[in-house]
Amino acid sequence: MKLVLMSCCAPCSAGAIKQLVDHEIPGIDDFIVLFFNPNIFPASEYARRMQEQVKYCEKLGVKYVIGNYDHDAWRAAVHGLENEPERGDRCSICFAYRFEYAKRFARENGYDAVASVFGVSRHKNQTQVDTAAESALDDIQYLPVKWNENLRQQINRESDFYRQNYCGCEFSIRKV
Ligand code: SF4
Repeated sequence: MKLVLMSCCAPCSAGAIKQLVDHEIPGIDDFIVLFFNPNIFPASEYARRMQEQVKYCEKLGVKYVIGNYDHDAWRAAVHGLENEPERGDRCSICFAYRFEYAKRFARENGYDAVASVFGVSRHKNQTQVDTAAESALDDIQYLPVKWNENLRQQINRESDFYRQNYCGCEFSIRKV
């Protein structure tokens, strides 16, 4: 099976990528990291997180692809939900928006399944992420992998990753 791993940043994805490199997830023959995060604001923050992601992928020799960054389009998708709290309805739309992109990418590039690290942060609700993925991915399989949190934390302790202190969008900046 060929997997698209959706990543929001290097600190969240470090353990998952290492597990995939080490063939710890059964049934995965090939994978690529997809960094599609038009939710991140401002653009300078997006660039910083993206550069950290690229650096980690290249260090491990992992394939990656950077999706389009169109924050205005993302803003239009969550219009009317600006005042929602984190883990509220805006986040469900935000997850689904990114999974929709992953679905199109998988279809167009011969991948069978999608997984993500969107739920690994303690500020996130994994069930909410899973629900958004199941509804957005259609014929592309969703793999709700429970990543190894101890490994992720260990890699983070041993690395010099840039670590942000908010989820990504402008509405999360004051609330985390
Ligand atoms: S708080 Fe995070 S998951 Fe929720 S809408 Fe903002 S960027 Fe997306």
